[in-house]
Amino acid sequence: MNALDAPIAAAAARVLGQSVPGPGGCLLWLGGRNDAGYGYIRVNGRSTGVHRVVFLARGGQLLHGEAVHHLCGVRHCVAHGHLAAVTASANAAEALATHALRNRITALERALRSISPAHPLLADASNDNDQLEYDLADHDAFDARAPHAA
Ligand SMILES: [Zn+2]
Repeated sequence: MNALDAPIAAAAARVLGQSVPGPGGCLLWLGGRNDAGYGYIRVNGRSTGVHRVVFLARGGQLLHGEAVHHLCGVRHCVAHGHLAAVTASANAAEALATHALRNRITALERALRSISPAHPLLADASNDNDQLEYDLADHDAFDARAPHAA
């Protein structure tokens, strides 16, 4: 580790100290999150994604324009094995696909509710898409680079 990495390593230690194991092998950040659900922490005076901090501290490499993607779809997860570098365009494409799928599910739930309000499939339908995010993580069509071994 060089001197420039020390603040990242210290920040990662803080992040991991404020995270707890979750479903699916996730490691869930308990600190502050933005409206989109991503965790943030101050590093050298700059607000930085907690997932990015952990990815970099564990030896992950980011090329110019690359972002750290959650393979698990859980935005406040900081499990190193759930993080991968992706191009910004790939990250945006997946986000759009996820958003479109959520909208479709919501429309289908609304239609089902109108014809069968007590249908069992509606029993756990809610606005909370965490489970959808876990399910989306199972698909393997998304092209992501695995993180470098730390
Ligand atoms: Zn995860």
